[in-house]
Amino acid sequence: MPPAQDKQQRKNILISGASIAGLTLAYWLNHYGFEVTVVEKAAELRLGGQNIDVKGPAWEIAQKMGIAQKIRRADTTEAGIRFVDTKNKVLAEFPKGHPMSMTQELEILRGDLVKILYELTEDKVSYRFGDHITGISEQAGHTEVSFAGGKKAEYSLVLIAEGIGSSTRAMVFKDVVKFRYLGLYTAYFTIEKQDTDTRWARWCNAPGGIVFLLRPDPYGTTRASVTLKAKEKAYKNLDPEQQKKALTAAIKDAGWEAPRLAEEISKSGELYFERLSQVISPVWSKGRTAMTGDAAYCVTPIAGKGTDLAMLGPYILAGEIAGTDDHQLAFFNYRQKLESYVREAQKLPPGIPLLVYPESRTGVRLINFLFRIFGSRLVKNLALRLSRNKKAPAKTFELPVYKD
Ligand SMILES: Cc1cc2nc3c(=O)[nH]c(=O)nc-3n(C[C@H](O)[C@H](O)[C@H](O)COP(=O)(O)OP(=O)(O)OC[C@H]3O[C@@H](n4cnc5c(N)ncnc54)[C@H](O)[C@@H]3O)c2cc1C
Repeated sequence: MPPAQDKQQRKNILISGASIAGLTLAYWLNHYGFEVTVVEKAAELRLGGQNIDVKGPAWEIAQKMGIAQKIRRADTTEAGIRFVDTKNKVLAEFPKGHPMSMTQELEILRGDLVKILYELTEDKVSYRFGDHITGISEQAGHTEVSFAGGKKAEYSLVLIAEGIGSSTRAMVFKDVVKFRYLGLYTAYFTIEKQDTDTRWARWCNAPGGIVFLLRPDPYGTTRASVTLKAKEKAYKNLDPEQQKKALTAAIKDAGWEAPRLAEEISKSGELYFERLSQVISPVWSKGRTAMTGDAAYCVTPIAGKGTDLAMLGPYILAGEIAGTDDHQLAFFNYRQKLESYVREAQKLPPGIPLLVYPESRTGVRLINFLFRIFGSRLVKNLALRLSRNKKAPAKTFELPVYKD
């Protein structure tokens, strides 16, 4: 009988989705000696998006992966955030590191993190871009997978990391998965830098339940996001060109820099436009298939733990798979270890996020008034003092240690 480790090393595993979760999973499974293939629907890595922060368990995992220095060096250079009105008048500003600032000490562009993760495994893992799973069927001892490109292959495990709109999840888990819609859609896209763009991020509320957020990047472009109130099905099932048209129509008369943004959206090569929904699933695995990242338990950017969970879930899933020959036990342990942390992250205070997206002009005036109060020297200094007096935050998650 070969030792268990040898048996594991012969397991070939398919990961579907090459973003933060899929790439982290690929790194750890390769690290434990598995043969890994990653299939990604897009023709190349999707590098769009704004700043994300790598903190808590994600930071510990990044250190274990040896990429902490690279992440530090890829700082977005953002000085802090300014809340402005539709005339671009600054209502409040919070510098980087201030407890009320969304600019954290350690921030990186989402695309830069994706690149760093990919570089770790590009010559160790087999990557297939521009393809996706079209059929999946479980057989005794393996799973048969067919791909849009015509290929068929067998894998011992299939791991889904396809993000919130995962189509393989729909194939395997059918309608077991539920979505908790937060009433908003968000678009991320990269635009040309203009004179109004500085090292400060700018947040602007506009009537219609719209928030524009423009953030600097270290590449001489600007990272834009538009978040808007909408019915859950308002922009579902649209192809990318239809998405662009619908989004442009929704924002073009909103004031501030909306005409500029509408024009940029219409010529954007890569637009990420998704509903803000939390993914609630009673199961994260079925047979030889498991899911991780947003596909399994999306918390949305509102919860502020998206990257954390996109790295933590794969780290645990890979560690558990490596620790036993029984994939059912591995999948069970993976969920046991992560579930309560996910549920905690999915709890939002009452009224959040919709209170921050008023629809009427009066509502926008009211929120701008609140920004002015929060931005006053008195409140800012008070927040700073309170945060200094606070004890160091308790560790939010005890990272399991797996044998190398
Ligand atoms: C282009 C882009 C920009 C983003 N920008 C931001 C941002 O600015 N701020 C923020 O907080 N979050 C952003 N996100 C979401 C963020 O990356 C995730 O919420 C979080 O990091 C969880 O990552 P994930 O790997 O689980 O899912 P995702 O990051 O959503 O990645 C899923 C990956 O799977 C691929 N995929 C989808 N369907 C299939 C399929 N059927 N077969 C194969 N591959 C498939 C997608 O192309 C994508 O590469 C962005 C995501 C993308 C894809």
